[in-house]
Amino acid sequence: MRTRPARKTPDLPQVVYRTLHPKEKEVVLSAVDIQSSAYAPYSNYKVGVAILGTNGKIYTGVNVENVFYKAMHAEEVALSEMAKDKCRRFMTLCCAALNGGIPCLSCRQFMREFSGEDLEDVIIIGVKNGIQDRVIRCTFADIIGVDSFGPQDLGINPMKY
Ligand SMILES: [Zn+2]
Repeated sequence: MRTRPARKTPDLPQVVYRTLHPKEKEVVLSAVDIQSSAYAPYSNYKVGVAILGTNGKIYTGVNVENVFYKAMHAEEVALSEMAKDKCRRFMTLCCAALNGGIPCLSCRQFMREFSGEDLEDVIIIGVKNGIQDRVIRCTFADIIGVDSFGPQDLGINPMKY
């Protein structure tokens, strides 16, 4: 029986860290900085996230695990911090994790609530532990798809809430 060759997802684009916009570097440093605060005794997989809101502020989050296996992901925590501050949209997100730090599928959908509709304008950066020479830098559209489901599909504009 013939098996189909495995289809590999295209690698996400990488850039040299020092070429990032100064504000993007600030977001990266915030994510790397907060990563060690993660509470991950079960997976030992610490994640730090920083997001830049449209209000110009940076919000951070870490994953928080629990003995009954409910875990809060760092993206959710950071976005909740932003929402708590009545900011409803982010422009840049950096995820610092072992594998180069790209948000999981669940978090991508959670992020979609606060991304606005111009997904090509939202920048996602992924860094391995610490600042490396190269970092992943792509748009939100690259990792969620331009036809993703968002609040606007249900007639909701998060900016009004
Ligand atoms: Zn996640």
